[in-house]
Amino acid sequence: MKITLMHLLKYKPATLQYPHEMRTLPNNYRGMLALLRYDDDTEKCVGCDLCEAACPSRVIRVVSAEVPGEPTKRYSKEYYMDMTRCLFCGMCVDTCPVDALGMTRGFE
Ligand code: SF4
Ligand code: SF4
Repeated sequence: MKITLMHLLKYKPATLQYPHEMRTLPNNYRGMLALLRYDDDTEKCVGCDLCEAACPSRVIRVVSAEVPGEPTKRYSKEYYMDMTRCLFCGMCVDTCPVDALGMTRGFE
């Protein structure tokens, strides 16, 4: 009881009134995944499927296709993420050869 009373007086409440008060996130926080774009708004993704292969919980599915008129270039025609299965491990981000995937700080 003595220790409990000491802690009551010594520390401020740890409870936050979320969503009105937000916790300060660490710099390396891994939140929602995002497909990134270049400054001119074109997609970075080249549809290589490496993120799909690297994902341990099969979150990502990529349907890639050739860029019309440019048979040596590909792009992701469709890109699906089932974020309910994501472990936020970051392996897809590390695998992407063109830095087309990023982890945002969004968690809501
Ligand atoms: S963060 Fe991990 S679990 Fe989530 S999509 Fe990427 S590789 Fe898959
Ligand atoms: S690894 Fe990168 S470039 Fe390849 S399909 Fe995934 S997001 Fe696109």
